[in-house]
Amino acid sequence: MTTSSSLDPIRLPLEFALKPGVVGKMRGLHQTLKVAAARVQAQLGEIDRARLAAVVEALDGFDALDEAGRLAAVQRAHRALTSVTTPPAPVVDTPPPPRAQTSRPPQPVVEKPAPRPRPAKKAAPEVPVVKDPLAEPVLHLSGVGPKLAETLGERGIHSIADLLRTMPRAYEDRTTIRPIASLDVGERALVRGEVLSVSPSGWGGQRRLEVRISDGTGALRLTYFKFNANLMTKRFPIGQQVLAAGLLSRFGTQMQMVHPEVQAGVDVEDWKSRLMPIYPDLDGVPRPRLRRLIEQALERVQGRIPELLPSEVRASMGLPSMEDALRYIHEPPADADLEKLQFRDTAAHRRLAFEEFFIMQVALGQRRRGQARAAALDISGTVDPDALTADLFPFPPTGAQRRVVAEIARDMMRGEPMARLLQGDVGSGKTAVAAAACLMAVRAGCQAAVVAPTEILAEQHYRNLTRMLSRLGVVTDMVTGSLTNRERVSANARLAQGVTQVVVGTHALLQEGVTFKRLAVSVIDEQHRFGVEQRAALRARGPVVDGVPQVPHLLVMTATPIPRTLALTLYGDLDLSVLDEMPPGRKPVVTHLVTSRTRDRALSAVRAALAQGRQAFVVFPLVEESEKSDLLDATQGAQEMQALFPETRVELLHGRMASLDKERAMARFLRKEVGILVSTTVIEVGVDVPNATIMWIEHAERFGLSQLHQLRGRVGRGQHSAECYLVARGKAGEDGLRRMQIMVETQDGFRIAEEDLAIRGPGDFFGTRQAGAPPFLYANLLRHGSLLEAARREATTLLQRDPELSQPAHQALRYALEERYHHRLSLAASG
Ligand code: ADP
Ligand code: MG
Repeated sequence: MTTSSSLDPIRLPLEFALKPGVVGKMRGLHQTLKVAAARVQAQLGEIDRARLAAVVEALDGFDALDEAGRLAAVQRAHRALTSVTTPPAPVVDTPPPPRAQTSRPPQPVVEKPAPRPRPAKKAAPEVPVVKDPLAEPVLHLSGVGPKLAETLGERGIHSIADLLRTMPRAYEDRTTIRPIASLDVGERALVRGEVLSVSPSGWGGQRRLEVRISDGTGALRLTYFKFNANLMTKRFPIGQQVLAAGLLSRFGTQMQMVHPEVQAGVDVEDWKSRLMPIYPDLDGVPRPRLRRLIEQALERVQGRIPELLPSEVRASMGLPSMEDALRYIHEPPADADLEKLQFRDTAAHRRLAFEEFFIMQVALGQRRRGQARAAALDISGTVDPDALTADLFPFPPTGAQRRVVAEIARDMMRGEPMARLLQGDVGSGKTAVAAAACLMAVRAGCQAAVVAPTEILAEQHYRNLTRMLSRLGVVTDMVTGSLTNRERVSANARLAQGVTQVVVGTHALLQEGVTFKRLAVSVIDEQHRFGVEQRAALRARGPVVDGVPQVPHLLVMTATPIPRTLALTLYGDLDLSVLDEMPPGRKPVVTHLVTSRTRDRALSAVRAALAQGRQAFVVFPLVEESEKSDLLDATQGAQEMQALFPETRVELLHGRMASLDKERAMARFLRKEVGILVSTTVIEVGVDVPNATIMWIEHAERFGLSQLHQLRGRVGRGQHSAECYLVARGKAGEDGLRRMQIMVETQDGFRIAEEDLAIRGPGDFFGTRQAGAPPFLYANLLRHGSLLEAARREATTLLQRDPELSQPAHQALRYALEERYHHRLSLAASG
């Protein structure tokens, strides 16, 4: 039992004290052991920690005792120490911390606790312990008792990982002592000065302590609002040299530091030569305290921080290890670039961001591979993209359409199921591309399905696709929820027999009972309304060939332009195609901001357009879930419009109308029997009325950017020029105004999407958090676009080499993935 152990720093001083003649001359033994105990206690279980505390307690008041008293105390302590189970140095061996407290995945270092002597105690069952040094609870740090641990926990800091994740929000340059005369309000600085005066002033809540210091170049006031007057006067004797560091603010005509960090006289070295991290204010945890905890945490896990990035990836990216990165951020070297640190623009920061992207891209890559592993109908030999579009399109394809049709053709000839996202702004010609994909299937003797989120859209797709495809002899059909039973039965029969070659429909198509003879392609319009389950339902609809299920090729179309960075994260399991070129001849939709002052002028412009035979959409927002007031708004709006334009027929289209009524209203609008269609956002998606040239949006400030963009895309689809009026009603707010301003400035859907992302942040991009925007801690989709691309590349390469992540070097990564992503991704995608 006397081999070296982690308890040596406690045992050795005690044994030394027991040597003859020593104990009387010793001082500070209590303090020494307290510090030593704090160091080792984290390695102990609950019970042993209590025992160790008893050892230290035995020496309480040691210095004040006489020799006999001291000897007795040391003997008590030494005895007590033998009951503390010796942890095998230096490996930490605690029971796995409770799951709820670990916010980092357990790491794959599986170790059996080393066999060790346990004096006269029942041995605990020998369970292998999965250890992640970062998962250790903060409670194990010295100076953290249950109370502080609880406070930290309430602020989201449970583990060492959480501590190390707390990013400094600034750095204070303490490498140079600045002359007071050179200081400016707003900067952080370190000064040295002599205490001139210490005086409390003010009353009650205004009470404060002012310490004036001077360094010969000038005087500075240090102000404390929370203080103990006695302690402070002791701490700041007149004439004392002090170091003070903090943020400079103005006090009347003078400068002050409020609650600076202060060091009296000595210990300059600890202060100097540092770029001191300034952490966020955590209520109840003083900043210096937090800093010391983070320092302690770093020291504690030194050399043991798990490295998730494979070394070849790190090498090719030129990124530091996780350990070096964390150290750099929390304890930057004195010569680090302060500017870059502040802007979180160092290799260390990039490494953290990269890792987040990388892990996610590996997860997405695995999923992409999983989807691709299935068999799919091979339609090779049937497709020449150019001939196909020439047959199909009543117009020459745009360059982007040709490119995307070729991408799709290539995918569908690989014998693996395609999973591709087609992004294209409103009016970029996605329908024609979808028709091409359908035709490829039909020419190969197979079927295609097109699924839309609403009946109106399904009907429109049906019309447009039929127009293009029926000329080529393709049999089309439509399946929606409003079919009668008889109609449904016969539609299903035609699908099952393979009579119908291309079917367009709503969710009704995904229901059980709908079977296909030979489904080769599914097209889903408006991705974000469909989740994984729907995708899965479509995957299961393919034929079985020689006992092998054939997964249909999938083309997902979205008219909501998404910045590429977001697309790579949200739809990273799909390949991306972009229609980034508009068909020729589209005129920009001139966009106006309408206020109460300019409303009349705007209305006369509308009147003029109507007089020329054009038509107008008037849109009201859906009011916060409450469909009643929403209906009221739109109904009232319709009446108002009718009163304003008595010579025009005004019609109301509302989400709660029966779909047949909606259809009829739309049909009357299309036939130009109706001049103004007042609606809620039900017309948002896809409706095509070339003669409508006016988009009038009430309460435009309430709409999100992408919605505004979608709505505006409804007009300007014919040969006449079009206008969009954004009517601000009531207070628009800063964001609302900014959104409208962006709409006035640009038509570019991708620019609008970028702005939207910037205003809302990725979390809110789709209006709801559940839409699965990934919660990045360090990575920023706006700033780190190229890192994301690199992460995707590296992830793809890695998965080519080690698809299952079975190599030993990839185990840490594999565990992190399982912990962080497999759960989250499946949730995210079903939004
Ligand atoms: P999206 O679905 O992307 O909003 P659509 O497919 O509805 O766009 O096409 C918008 C309009 O542009 C339609 O009227 C369509 O006929 C027309 N169009 C599509 N491609 C071309 C093209 N290459 N040249 C001319 N017009 C086109
Ligand atoms: Mg469309």
